[in-house]
Amino acid sequence: MKALSSWIKTWYLSELWAGLALTLRYFFKPKITVYYPEEKTPKSPRFRGLHAQRRYPNGEERCIACKLCEAICPALAITIDSEMREDGTRRTTRYDIDLFKCIYCGFCEEVCPVDAIVETRISEFHFEKRGEQIMTKEKLLAVGDKYEAQIAADRAADAPYR
Ligand code: SF4
Ligand code: SF4
Repeated sequence: MKALSSWIKTWYLSELWAGLALTLRYFFKPKITVYYPEEKTPKSPRFRGLHAQRRYPNGEERCIACKLCEAICPALAITIDSEMREDGTRRTTRYDIDLFKCIYCGFCEEVCPVDAIVETRISEFHFEKRGEQIMTKEKLLAVGDKYEAQIAADRAADAPYR
């Protein structure tokens, strides 16, 4: 019986007709091609792109150098040095993320107790020289300063699900 069914399929080209029917069905459906970069798909508030460090509204950096992000990073991409300030608070003196090591898992932002390190919607960035892939504290804070409104809006949109 199996041999007969195979023989019929072979001689009546049933798989070919099935393939052509599928092509015909999609031929008349609306096209879903996105002409990137002129067109872009919507991004989720949880999108995990380029990292940023945030500040409080008074300008104080959020990061308290607890090093949880450094400890949880599975790619060992984060390097932190810290010191105690005169006022007794602890802050980083060095906060580097090596983007060549980073796998954009989002663990660092998940673990951060003060929402300091976050991943933004920025997915289009490049490097031209060796070493530029290291996001230093200054670079991270600059990204945070520039995109704080979007970052805050994304965090607020995601807050009910956290
Ligand atoms: S996104 Fe993941 S891999 Fe990248 S720095 Fe954060 S914890 Fe490490
Ligand atoms: S970014 Fe967050 S988790 Fe990482 S050291 Fe600073 S406060 Fe801790």
